[in-house]
Amino acid sequence: MTEILILGAGPAGAAVALGLKRLGYGVRVVSEWRRFAAVEGVSQRVLDGLRQAGLKRALACAAAPSPRRVQWNGDGQSINQECLLDRPQFDAAIREDLRDAGIEVVEARVLRVESTGDGHLIHLDQGEPLRAGFLVEARGRSAPLAGGRLRGPETLSLLNQWQEQPGQPGSAVESLADGWAWMARLADGRCYWQITQDAGGLPPKEQLADYCAQRRGESALVRELFGEAALQPASLHARSSTAILFHEASGPNWLRVGDAAMAVDPLSGNGIFQSLSSALQAPAVIITLLQRPERAELARRFHQRRVEHLFLRFARTGRDFYALEQRWPEQPFWRDRRTWPDAEPMHAAADFSQLRVERAPVIHGDGIEEAEVVVTADQPLGIWHLQGIELAPIVRALQRGELTQALAALPEQPRRMVQGWLLAQGYR
Ligand code: FAD
Repeated sequence: MTEILILGAGPAGAAVALGLKRLGYGVRVVSEWRRFAAVEGVSQRVLDGLRQAGLKRALACAAAPSPRRVQWNGDGQSINQECLLDRPQFDAAIREDLRDAGIEVVEARVLRVESTGDGHLIHLDQGEPLRAGFLVEARGRSAPLAGGRLRGPETLSLLNQWQEQPGQPGSAVESLADGWAWMARLADGRCYWQITQDAGGLPPKEQLADYCAQRRGESALVRELFGEAALQPASLHARSSTAILFHEASGPNWLRVGDAAMAVDPLSGNGIFQSLSSALQAPAVIITLLQRPERAELARRFHQRRVEHLFLRFARTGRDFYALEQRWPEQPFWRDRRTWPDAEPMHAAADFSQLRVERAPVIHGDGIEEAEVVVTADQPLGIWHLQGIELAPIVRALQRGELTQALAALPEQPRRMVQGWLLAQGYR
């Protein structure tokens, strides 16, 4: 059996490893530890994704939802909720999930990968090089970048951390004239403040901690959430947060998943969700590449189209959120982001005239195959099933003028659901 090696034990690499293992494939993961501590805020969608991936211990790391204050466009304060995730704890729990599933994790830094049509030789910072017939690149934003890419405005996030007294957990986000800041306080008193700005034009590295302390001093929200310690320079880590789409998400014997395939702007708060989305579909793609070479092109097209589609969806979500901030329209930070990546709407309006049946790659069982799907203005990749009902035969019947008969063949509940769907598409 082909040896499958996964580079990177983040949520994406782990989701692929667990998915392949469930399908009976032997996999190994190679990863080093993340080099900095961070806290991230996650939504219910992320928690659902972790559950679906079988990352139980990682899921258990998410703190109970805590209040998040939002101050955007000077519209006063609104409050919603998010779950805070301590990344070092989360990353350790991911490895426990892998070990529980009997998946070996080699702790090493990957220095270089030599690839040929026959396989890959992976050079590590310790021990012998590893060989693999199939490689999954899941090293997140650290994965090597080569070839053409689609990049958003160059963006940098400066994460600051300090310690205060234990207290009520909570987080907040606020827009600033030249960027935005996210901040969080954990129940044990660990405090985080992260400012995201244009990558160019920041002070030199040695002045960044003072610069961040000064910026915190200007924020009323910082004073509400933290104590006096927030006004002092703190430990600092800079991370690129530029949105990046890697143009090629697969080759005949490799696949990119998670941030290594597409990394989104952290504003969406959906990074972990998007990394899981591309990873959850990966086992079916990999199995097809390994077992059904005649369908390799189909499987790669499936992965590529979904990665690109996801990327654009998240990029447009970010764009629309940036556009809500209207106080500084001429500031380069806001001007560049409220128009990127394009002017296409987030969701295309229903247009019945665009409804058509096409053949497209879909996941069926453990692999990718081609099926008839219904393409709509808002679902360019096509819909195969609507809660178990194949849509293409219904649309074909409608085009032949035989909709009544096709609907009559369905039990009452699915029939109502399909009728509702057709109405939502503009069918009258
Ligand atoms: P990662 O989680 O990055 O995992 C990659 C793994 O590969 C790591 O274990 C790493 O140590 C390992 N690795 C890297 N290089 C090597 C190497 N050479 N050799 C061996 N191992 C290696 N998402 C949210 O959902 N909510 C947030 O609030 C949020 N905030 C963010 C803030 C910032 C500033 C940024 C940049 C991102 C944020 N994200 C957030 C996004 C989230 O961190 C990522 O989308 C997610 O972790 C991607 O998962 P992944 O598995 O693809 O990669």
